[in-house]
Amino acid sequence: MCAAQAVRHQGDGSAHMRSTLRKGNALPSRPNACMGTIILPFPVETTTTTPDFRTFDLAPGLLQGLDAMGIRKPTPIQEQAIPLALEGRDLIACAQTGTGKTAAFLLPLIEVIHGYKPKVEGSIRALVIVPTRELALQIDQQMQAIAYFTPITSMPVYGGSDAASFDQQKAALTGGTEVIVATPGKLLSHLNLGYVALKGLEFLVLDEADRMMDMGFIDDINRIVQFLPKDRQTLMFSATMAPPIRELAKHILHDPAEITIALSKPAEGVKQEAYVVHEPQKAPVLEHVLRTNEATSIIIFAGRKVEVKNLARHLIKRGFDAQAMHSDLEQGEREQVLLDFRNRKLRILVATNVVSRGIDIDDIDLVINYDVPRDPEDYVHRVGRTARASKKGQAITFISEVDMREFGRIEKLIGYAVQKLPLPGGFGEGPEYRPDAKAKHSNGNRRGPGGGHRGGNSRGGRPQGGGRRH
Ligand code: AMP
Repeated sequence: MCAAQAVRHQGDGSAHMRSTLRKGNALPSRPNACMGTIILPFPVETTTTTPDFRTFDLAPGLLQGLDAMGIRKPTPIQEQAIPLALEGRDLIACAQTGTGKTAAFLLPLIEVIHGYKPKVEGSIRALVIVPTRELALQIDQQMQAIAYFTPITSMPVYGGSDAASFDQQKAALTGGTEVIVATPGKLLSHLNLGYVALKGLEFLVLDEADRMMDMGFIDDINRIVQFLPKDRQTLMFSATMAPPIRELAKHILHDPAEITIALSKPAEGVKQEAYVVHEPQKAPVLEHVLRTNEATSIIIFAGRKVEVKNLARHLIKRGFDAQAMHSDLEQGEREQVLLDFRNRKLRILVATNVVSRGIDIDDIDLVINYDVPRDPEDYVHRVGRTARASKKGQAITFISEVDMREFGRIEKLIGYAVQKLPLPGGFGEGPEYRPDAKAKHSNGNRRGPGGGHRGGNSRGGRPQGGGRRH
């Protein structure tokens, strides 16, 4: 055991103690620095000055876990967040899915939990609160992979599961599982039953805080915080720093350090294109794209659940290998659809925004925006599903008259105009692209795609990253 580790193992686990032991190097707090800042998806620029994870003096088991995952060099958010979190600082970070934010909070908390004795034997030591069950599962999986060579255990806690899972969750919440990754509603129902072992909680992480606000979880979060010990370290991650997020931060964080990363552009490897279409042209042109594009892994995003359902139903009817992914599906169905898609047994996933934010799916060849997202950040999230880890990818957006203004805002955000493709022959003329014109109201005419073609790809399954220990 090296000297630094020996010191860690003698600690008592409190944030104050860690802060004292690790004093130095604190970055100055930068109020308002996150305002309006967008972190675009991973891979973010890899120009960090930290050569590898050993610089953070992490336990050998963690380095081994990272190595097994093929993770070698910290991303900018990791480079900034990990040292601060290891010092015991509260943290507010503007970061989105794709920046490596999950490892940015998991690494320091596993390191500390591994390195220090618990304050209270048998207590949960870290609580990660997230907006969706998909994100809970995804973070738990990443946790299992990173902590594989350490004895630290974790458990996801979310709704929609059966009685056996509830009992399993209850056992984890009472029986000394160190890290719990939970959605607010389900956690609160367990908390209200009075058995959750939280006396020795050391870390609270709020991930995708802005999303939790949007989904109406603010009261639940405030209630949860009342159950937690005050002497804890709190890390908050949010894609935006709107005033309500700052208000929440004021209540639950203590003198936080603030991290933001300069505006970045979508990964160079993403070929971004758009068709400017009249609403009735959308569906047939989509079908043409699906027929002619060689992509074997495609996500089609549509804004509303009802559109997702209709579009998927229609594509299936026309012989495409497609499935819908939305919040009305049973938990088991969602997991199966995602698994099939990840394993490339399913070619086309038709999804709402939930997938663009919370789901860790790599290697997508083509992202199609069947509509233009209302929030420009969602465009970035959606496009960020492709060309991950420096691979090539393609994103095609359909812009109808009602979407032009919105797309103009996106182009302003990313700082350049996306290439507009001429409509393929036989589909007629599209409208002129006029992002500054006032949007006309749509008659809501959304036809299903015409013409059928089975574009399925039934390649064998791809192994999932990371191993589970329990
Ligand atoms: P996240 O932003 O946490 O959703 O992470 C996005 C993806 O990046 C996940 O698949 C991670 O496993 C991966 N990842 C996280 N950190 C790194 C890193 N330093 N180098 C390469 N990949 C990473």
